[in-house]
Amino acid sequence: MDLPESHPRYQSLLLRERVAIGVEMGITSLIGLIAHGRGEAFDYLLGERTIPSAHRAEVVGVAALLLADHPVISVNGNAVALAADDLIALGDALGAGIEVNIFYHSEERRERIIRYLEERGAGELYVGSDARIPGLAHNRGVVDSHGIYAADTVLVPLEDGDRCSALKRMGKTVVAIDLNPLSRTARTADVTIVDNIVRAVPEMRSLVEEFASKGRSELEEMLEDYDNRRALADALDEITRHLSESL
Ligand code: ATP
Repeated sequence: MDLPESHPRYQSLLLRERVAIGVEMGITSLIGLIAHGRGEAFDYLLGERTIPSAHRAEVVGVAALLLADHPVISVNGNAVALAADDLIALGDALGAGIEVNIFYHSEERRERIIRYLEERGAGELYVGSDARIPGLAHNRGVVDSHGIYAADTVLVPLEDGDRCSALKRMGKTVVAIDLNPLSRTARTADVTIVDNIVRAVPEMRSLVEEFASKGRSELEEMLEDYDNRRALADALDEITRHLSESL
């Protein structure tokens, strides 16, 4: 992209470009461009920064993933186009495998994403299609029996609301990354990180390193008093504040 780094919208345009390249490579769906636009709009309203309540959610989310017996990271075409290397590094740091789960099912696209992650050095990848998430239409509910199906805690960046609810009904702890504090996913997850995936995932990776010496009780303390509804309300307050300061 022929754009100077000094351009005020450089970062945002760079992310658009990454998702567009994802579409060209056949790892992101065309509809994924629209989902990206919705996220971008909320990021704009939040001031394209990690707000304090999102950072708190990142801390709590990492603690929950470290406390899990079987954490799994679920990824789709947008997540991989935007943050493949960081997601792989986070999975390695957490000892969590990655499973590809795409909204618009296409075996060809799923295999391309798997190959792309393998080429970039992904360690544990769940690639099976031998289990079903109850309550989801056929293709959308297909998962790996050793991956998402068996997980006790799932990190779902950019998930859709139906799947998030279905995972909750299975009794899993769900940590979501979603810039829209009003989405069904944001309101259904146990911990919602209202931040851009490109900022959230590297920060979570650093937090895993920072928490390496902490024992279970210290991690459990981090979860105490966390209120996801309050975090979402705070994100809406931040949007209002940012907008009134921008005028
Ligand atoms: P829901 O079903 O949860 O209500 P939705 O229908 O609004 O979600 P989807 O298209 O299913 O949205 O998923 C896209 C979600 O991902 C949106 O909520 C959007 O805000 C969010 N999103 C898009 N890009 C990013 C990004 N880069 N970082 C974080 N979140 C993002």
